[in-house]
Amino acid sequence: MSKVRTRIAPSPTGDPHVGTAYVALFNIAFSHVNNGDFLLRIEDTDQNRYTKGSEQTIFDTLSWLELNWAEGPDIGGDFGPYRQSERFSLYGDYAKKLVEDTEAYYCFCTNDRLEKLRDRQKSMGNAPGYDGHCRSLTKEEIEKKISDGEEYVIRLKMPYDGTTIIKDRLRGDITFDNDKIDDQILLKGDGFPTYHLANVVDDHLMGITHVIRAEEWIPSTPKHIQLYKAFKWTAPEFIHMPLLRNSDKSKISKRKNPVSLIWYKEEGYLKEGLINFLGLMGYSLPNGKEIFTLDEFKESFDINRVSIGGPVFDLVKLGWVNNQHMRLKDLKELTDLSIPFFRAKGLIGDTLSDKEYDTLVKIVALQRESCNTLKEMAETSEVYFQDSYSFPNIVEEMDKKEIASIERLHTLMKDEEAIKAINIFHEKIKNYPNEDISIEEGKKILADTLTQAGTGPGKVYMPLRAVLTGLPKGVDLYNILFIIGKERTLLRIANMINKYQIQF
Ligand code: GLU
Repeated sequence: MSKVRTRIAPSPTGDPHVGTAYVALFNIAFSHVNNGDFLLRIEDTDQNRYTKGSEQTIFDTLSWLELNWAEGPDIGGDFGPYRQSERFSLYGDYAKKLVEDTEAYYCFCTNDRLEKLRDRQKSMGNAPGYDGHCRSLTKEEIEKKISDGEEYVIRLKMPYDGTTIIKDRLRGDITFDNDKIDDQILLKGDGFPTYHLANVVDDHLMGITHVIRAEEWIPSTPKHIQLYKAFKWTAPEFIHMPLLRNSDKSKISKRKNPVSLIWYKEEGYLKEGLINFLGLMGYSLPNGKEIFTLDEFKESFDINRVSIGGPVFDLVKLGWVNNQHMRLKDLKELTDLSIPFFRAKGLIGDTLSDKEYDTLVKIVALQRESCNTLKEMAETSEVYFQDSYSFPNIVEEMDKKEIASIERLHTLMKDEEAIKAINIFHEKIKNYPNEDISIEEGKKILADTLTQAGTGPGKVYMPLRAVLTGLPKGVDLYNILFIIGKERTLLRIANMINKYQIQF
């Protein structure tokens, strides 16, 4: 048995797709458990769809996810070059070899003729397809046309009868009638290879033993199998992964789900979270664990466990998985990863003092319990940074619920019991012996305040929260105390007293 070799072969035609990472993950795991190699090839034969910079973002995002390749355009390898645009001369030679072997033929049909053919087929209710018009040209006819400068393509001679069978490990035999498969173009008029030709030639020359790719390529596979046959090469094993789907079961698409890997990175998902989530798409670990690392996934991988039922790409689930990984991550590491997000939100500056960094660590420790992304942590942390607030007022765009809670706040701000309690709280903080207030201690201060004031939280917490944060609802008070400590709590109270000329 030859060494297992797998690959992904993305086309640099826009933002790197989440499906590319998905397929890469399964290829990597498969080659890992088989002691094989995994390589990255760039399929950039379609120059019309080529997007500058896209190749680099493929490298960057896959590297971010630690979906590493052992050979590729950026690092070379024994089977290079790994960029199809650097292999162009090869494809023409292979196409011409097939013509010599009478497995392929020159086709001089003009676009005009092909269009008319298609229209005719359509009007008769037939499937469009090439009619084999040039398949039987004589050698002389061909030579004359070429010397007259007529443009040509090279097409593969598909057998007119019989079937082509894909023996897909996950799907069983998929059978295609040969007479329904077009004489596919291998080499285009401009001398460029088609996807089919370049893909097959490269997979063969690069020693690929297993082609693990998305379900959407199934219609291409019989063409590839016929091409391998024409070349007299052994075809690799084909394994088609399920398509990732939107919740309505349609193929995952930009309109319904973000599909760019860049989006996931910028949104503050952890690489561990996204990988774990992708590893759950149509797959479950043999030990049933839902939260796992890339290594755990690779170590226990079994391709036969892939189920093809169209896994739903559910961002709610991703959020949950990512939250689990945020909790598992080393706290300092998570804090460091979150810094750009806090910075982008304007909550921290370019540099952080030790004290600021320590506060950030505390914020992250707290926030990772309830937030699903790094970005969400930053977006919901404003209240820990600023020390000067105003009491909220009713404004036009507020809904009924918001208006009701502000009205209640305004009533409570005048309530004697509430004011007394805030006063007691203020005294307790003033007399508190330490700068740091742990969550437990914070809870105790609050409970003692209520007992001493002889009232319940319903009256006190809302106005107290407004004093400390400017908001009637939101974060728990003991969390505020834990993050900002004694001095800043006193500062916030003092700021309110000054601003509103009130007394607590
Ligand atoms: N270039 C194709 C793509 O963009 C490769 C498909 C395959 O794996 O054969 O995904």
